[in-house]
Amino acid sequence: MSREKPCRTCTDFRTWAKQQKETYEKEVRDSQASVNGTRENCPLDKDELGSKTWAFLHTMAAYYPDQPSNGQMNDMKNFFYTFSKFYPCHTCAEDMQEQLKHSPPATSSQEELSQWLCRLHNAVNKKLMKPEFDCKLVNQRWRDGWLDGSCD
Ligand SMILES: Cc1cc2nc3c(=O)[nH]c(=O)nc-3n(C[C@H](O)[C@H](O)[C@H](O)COP(=O)(O)OP(=O)(O)OC[C@H]3O[C@@H](n4cnc5c(N)ncnc54)[C@H](O)[C@@H]3O)c2cc1C
Repeated sequence: MSREKPCRTCTDFRTWAKQQKETYEKEVRDSQASVNGTRENCPLDKDELGSKTWAFLHTMAAYYPDQPSNGQMNDMKNFFYTFSKFYPCHTCAEDMQEQLKHSPPATSSQEELSQWLCRLHNAVNKKLMKPEFDCKLVNQRWRDGWLDGSCD
């Protein structure tokens, strides 16, 4: 289906130029997606859902308080137990529920939570025979950026 072209005579120049840029960028993305055989506006498969979810979880842990209140600690614990009941990959969710029995969320500080989550993710990596991540680097990966400045 073709999209409507930006209308030069119906909009002021700034808006028109912005629309042109957006249309161009969308076309580039679409053509790259069709070359790669992927579509960006389709439901997620297990791996897409997984990497996006890990990004969210690690980023949430990265911004958790250093000195959380009792309420925040409980809320974060409950978040992970509830999350593990509703995560929409059923085998992953069941596996996580099992892991939580042996390793409950460590919510006493940002450092504790990020390290706990890193170990949890590594357990999944191990099961899937993926390389384990060095948990010493977790704050560089998800909060501060690499020391070499490549994320600045
Ligand atoms: C809670 C949960 C449970 C899952 N369980 C299963 C399962 O049982 N079976 C299954 O097939 N798939 C499962 N998945 C999906 C799986 O973990 C991957 O997300 C998926 O295979 C895509 O992998 P990926 O190579 O894109 O990297 P991902 O594993 O998604 O990782 C994304 C990025 O996180 C970083 N990273 C990697 N490891 C760590 C770590 N330990 N700590 C911090 N950062 C790290 C890396 O930079 C990596 O590129 C689960 C996902 C989630 C969120």
